[in-house]
Amino acid sequence: LLAKYAALRDKPAKTLDGVEVELMINAGLSIDMDGLERTGANGVGLFRTEFQFMVSESLPRVGPQADFYRDILEAANGKPVVFRTLDIGGDKPVSFLKRDHEANPALGWRAIRIAFDRPALLRYQVRALLKAAEGRELNIMFPMISDVTEFKMARDILNKEIDRQIKRKVTLPSKVKVGTMLEVPALIWQLDNLLPMIDFMSIGSNDLMQFFFACDRENAKLAGRYDPISPPALLMLKSIVDKCNEHQVPLTLCGEIGGKPVTALALIAIGFRRLSIAPASVGPIKMMIRSVNLADVESYMMGLLSRSDHSLRGLLTTFAKDHG
Ligand code: PEP
Ligand code: MG
Repeated sequence: LLAKYAALRDKPAKTLDGVEVELMINAGLSIDMDGLERTGANGVGLFRTEFQFMVSESLPRVGPQADFYRDILEAANGKPVVFRTLDIGGDKPVSFLKRDHEANPALGWRAIRIAFDRPALLRYQVRALLKAAEGRELNIMFPMISDVTEFKMARDILNKEIDRQIKRKVTLPSKVKVGTMLEVPALIWQLDNLLPMIDFMSIGSNDLMQFFFACDRENAKLAGRYDPISPPALLMLKSIVDKCNEHQVPLTLCGEIGGKPVTALALIAIGFRRLSIAPASVGPIKMMIRSVNLADVESYMMGLLSRSDHSLRGLLTTFAKDHG
């Protein structure tokens, strides 16, 4: 099977009826970057920057941060890399930041929320990213944005750093594209205001599903109980796809669910055209995409979205088996 996946490396992830899906990888360490070459993926759709901070005893300085990001861009060899700014707190602790005990850390002082209270963290990181990407394209996105105001605050910090580089006559990236993650459900009802301000959006389905179903993503007792391809979740996701299409903002889904074949099939059927997944999932997902006729799946799936039971996954799995 592995040889079969390897043989697909240079083939597009295109359905039998000609719909192309872009497959990107999730990464967070230098060694993850090998996955780009190995899988033939289109780029890095989610680069989790927090690992460098989690293994450090003190706040990494701008220089080492920039060196690390530069290495990542070099390793990407011209393919796009979407850097997500620090998502610490919650399940991702760092030793240099003192914090109070929290009853609900996933809902607590984490990710972009910390940056608003400790703006130097984000300022230095953004400065390092600007430095690392000088002369080339920089893609940057903010985690756990809850509303338009938070996006503007984060964007302001980035703008200040860009101005600072201009004043110091430092070479800037050739282009800076700015996006948000969509992980907090409240943001879905802000899309008409938010989408005109951003260059791209990426759904973090791990957190979005955890908040949507009020179900801890780490709780083994609940694992598998709330299905991301049940009608309520798919209707929510589809409303995001439709809004992004309406505003012509590129949309990616970068949570773990995109790496599971039947789930990815449902996502593509409701309109996703870009998934960012673990490198090991690229082969299986590409093989699935290349074996389906999307129009058939779409019409079958749409008929299932009004169901009020747990049957959708089973029916779709059977359909997928019967159709290649
Ligand atoms: C997500 O929430 O889906 C996501 C991609 O971010 P993380 O898993 O790092 O929280
Ligand atoms: Mg997340």
